[in-house]
Amino acid sequence: MIYLDHAATTACAPEAVQAMLPYFTELYGNPSNIYGLSLQSRKAVNKARADVAKAINATQGAEITFTASGTEADNLAIMGIARARAEVGRHLITTRIEHHAVLNCFQELEREGFKVTYLPVNKEGIVSVETIAQAITKETTLVSVMLANNEIGTIQPLAAISDLTRPRGIYLHTDAVQAASAMQLDVQALGVDALSISAHKFYGPKGVGALYLRQGCHPSPVIFGGGQEKGLRSGTENVPGIVGLAMALTLVNENGEEKRRHLTALREQLIEGVLAKISGVIVTGSRTERLPGTASFVIKDIEGESLVIQLDRRGICASAGAACTSSQSGGSHVLKALGLPSPLTRGNLRISIGYENTPDEITQTINALAESIELLRSIAPRRHSKRRN
Ligand SMILES: *Cc1c(COP(=O)(O)O)cnc(C)c1O
Repeated sequence: MIYLDHAATTACAPEAVQAMLPYFTELYGNPSNIYGLSLQSRKAVNKARADVAKAINATQGAEITFTASGTEADNLAIMGIARARAEVGRHLITTRIEHHAVLNCFQELEREGFKVTYLPVNKEGIVSVETIAQAITKETTLVSVMLANNEIGTIQPLAAISDLTRPRGIYLHTDAVQAASAMQLDVQALGVDALSISAHKFYGPKGVGALYLRQGCHPSPVIFGGGQEKGLRSGTENVPGIVGLAMALTLVNENGEEKRRHLTALREQLIEGVLAKISGVIVTGSRTERLPGTASFVIKDIEGESLVIQLDRRGICASAGAACTSSQSGGSHVLKALGLPSPLTRGNLRISIGYENTPDEITQTINALAESIELLRSIAPRRHSKRRN
């Protein structure tokens, strides 16, 4: 099998699994108690907090809140900050290409009476800093722009956005879930007040995420109960998951440069190979401002899901856009925002490369793609457009 869907999820690193194991069996104490066994769990959670803070260049562990997913981190940041600052203003800004974990929060906030501006992006999927400047009003309290897009891998100019928001006292949140495995995250350089990550996207376990909140940024809680995580998200801490998240993030940053070079080389090999061998293919997103391991295409006269099935028959895992939107009809909101016509967006393919992939696997993938696309084009009636070979 050749796994090329790292944007959907990754295998847990063996070192992260090893680090987690004792907290399932011997060290199972509830971190909230005062006896020795519990103290060990509490220490492990606090060490993980410090390690995550260090990995993203936060000033202290107290700025890290552990959550049950990237989705929950996004919800806590967006719902929490918007509601906590509702007295200051009720206008919020985001983009049209956010993950649904972000977009659906803003839709809920609209139902609560907030006003939301959804910014357009250019053909490469990049939001312009000027459109943000124009959208800001005296009522604006929060801007949320993803660091890297999960479908097309485009990277957004967060530091330049921060230059606009910070002097105006507007909070800036970024969903960095896709970026964490492929960029060295630095909350100071990005200038953000809140940043979400999710362990299973960077070779950690599923079901655990983290939210960075700059000192002084106090969202309202979205989950109520026993007051864990400083009351921000009640519920007994997922101690093994938290330990695994911290270990995985530390590992990701080891030899980070080298890993990014490897991913970039394979991505370029794939894009060059596909463009050379297969007709009617467009690379979506930006050729330069993109995640090292993410390649995304639209392919003429092809249904993305049929192609994914053909690739699966050849032992290759890839996806037709985002994992969580592939079952939705109506197509990708991200490709629509790029201005691509809808017959084309049906032929959506995302290939997301991981550290363990090899040049040989990429060569096999290019060949399998060429074969599958030829087969599909030969059997499908050309409903949407004429073949132009
Ligand atoms: C996967 C993903 C999420 C959701 O993270 P989960 O931990 O799966 O809930 C949020 N945002 C982006 C950009 C993602 O890729």
